[in-house]
Amino acid sequence: MVISVLSGKGGTGKTTVVAALSELAKKVIKVDCDVDAPNLYLFYQGRDIEKKDFYGGKKAQINGSLCIECDICEEVCKFGAIKNAMVDPFTCEGCGACTIVCPRKAISLEDEKTADAFLTQTEKGIISRARMGVGSEGSGKLVTYLRRNVKRFEEDNGITMIDGSPGIGCAVIASITDTNFVLIITEPTKSGLGDLKRILELAERFETQVMVCINKYDINQEMSSQIEDFAKEQKLSVVGKIPFDKKVMESVNSLRPITEFRDSPARKAIEEMWICMNRIMTTKDF
Ligand code: SF4
Ligand code: SF4
Repeated sequence: MVISVLSGKGGTGKTTVVAALSELAKKVIKVDCDVDAPNLYLFYQGRDIEKKDFYGGKKAQINGSLCIECDICEEVCKFGAIKNAMVDPFTCEGCGACTIVCPRKAISLEDEKTADAFLTQTEKGIISRARMGVGSEGSGKLVTYLRRNVKRFEEDNGITMIDGSPGIGCAVIASITDTNFVLIITEPTKSGLGDLKRILELAERFETQVMVCINKYDINQEMSSQIEDFAKEQKLSVVGKIPFDKKVMESVNSLRPITEFRDSPARKAIEEMWICMNRIMTTKDF
């Protein structure tokens, strides 16, 4: 069973929830698909058992011995990545237009390493994660790679928990594809509701059941009610309402899952949410 935890933007408490749910579920495979800001693994002591180069892009390369410095490539490059028959790898988008127009066939597109992909073994299961190269951006291709990389460890009746990418781009699509459940973490603000609607629109294109969690629901009870009303209209289950809790900051700063804080109201709410999620998940057949 695959559960993907998503949010419209960073900083909504997604990783806190993923770490807590992973603790409650005991041994789960975790995939950190928040590739531009990966921090799930920081909550765990572990040992990297695999490190691979990930080639996620292409860059133009000019063969100086063939080039006649006609500058046709410079004119055609819409990204301004070529100057005096030299390619700036940081601005080249790998579109390939220059390779088409070069009269000497002096330009080729070469694979570019964009990230290191790791499998980290922890006491509480495997984490698949990446470290992006300087100036590189996460992509759907990388997220798909990280997810595929744990397939060999998945067991029948086991759980794979995905800390999804924020937003609604390719990386999020790759975080939703082929998942059984999506848990959307939102906050009680107008933008939180807008983000929820956008992710929902995306998730509806996939055969996955969506659940909603309102984080810090008590900082704006009116907006929380609006989110609940919207969820009701859409026939979505609001499985959790997590109160604002200073202990969450303590948990993040000390890199200990919130489940370790006995007297935390957020912890209690996440535990109740997990019970509610289980109730829904056990009624589904896979
Ligand atoms: S188009 Fe080809 S030959 Fe002309 S400057 Fe560019 S690389 Fe050199
Ligand atoms: S591949 Fe595209 S972006 Fe890169 S240098 Fe060529 S035309 Fe410019």
